Amino acid sequence: MKIIRFLTAGREQLGRLHEDNSVTLLSGELCGELHDTSQPAVVDKLLAPIDPRDILCVGLNYRQHAAETGAEPPEHPVLFLKNSGAVQNPGDPIELPRRLRSDRVDYECELAVVIRKRCHNVRRDEALDYVLGYTCGNDVSARDWQKQGGGGQWCRGKSFATFCPLGPAIATTDEIPDPNQLAIRTIVNDNVMQDWNTNDMIFDVPTLIEFLSASMVLNPGTVILTGTPHGVGFARTPPVYLQPGDQVTVEIEKIGRLTNPVTEEPLAT
Ligand code: MG
Repeated sequence: MKIIRFLTAGREQLGRLHEDNSVTLLSGELCGELHDTSQPAVVDKLLAPIDPRDILCVGLNYRQHAAETGAEPPEHPVLFLKNSGAVQNPGDPIELPRRLRSDRVDYECELAVVIRKRCHNVRRDEALDYVLGYTCGNDVSARDWQKQGGGGQWCRGKSFATFCPLGPAIATTDEIPDPNQLAIRTIVNDNVMQDWNTNDMIFDVPTLIEFLSASMVLNPGTVILTGTPHGVGFARTPPVYLQPGDQVTVEIEKIGRLTNPVTEEPLAT
């Protein structure tokens, strides 16, 4: 099923999104037992489908993206962390940083894996048993603070507020038995900027979970961003960066479309 999180009459709820876009209320916990009450729900405001405990990100995980950045394909998954405070809801703005200013804010469409149960030292062939489902992610990146201003770390440039849109729904694993056969795209305004398939991942989803769970404990509610295909803005000639007034959509087959407008960070006067 497809799970959404939303506000109704000021209350946060989980719901099941049906084919006809109607929603019924779910009872229970996102990473526990969920039960469809069949009770119709009114969605006042859609939220990111999960408030992640940790956000683990994999860099340079698509062959053609590694090539466009001039990097050799990595021997092991390249791991970095993104602050969970960066999560943004579908439809809410990606804010271009203005206090710590960035003029090089870029999009990255990514398949986001949601971990359902505590995961440590799991084998590749059992890895998907630990997954609740998949959603769309945008690993928004301030390239200036990721690279020149990053002190050798990517965390800062990837963790500004609003830099992790997630949603609109989590498609559970029964809907997506193979996460490595999904079309994935980014559209900025009317321009298709990335248009590829998760089958180009250097390390597929089960391999990532095996590797990550061998190097750390993945708790329920962890989100893994699995890397982006080629076509990012900074690797284009000339480079393309997000501007106020833009609209960015990440679209993944069998999951849905995650759209966010782009604005400037408001500063208190
Ligand atoms: Mg990324």
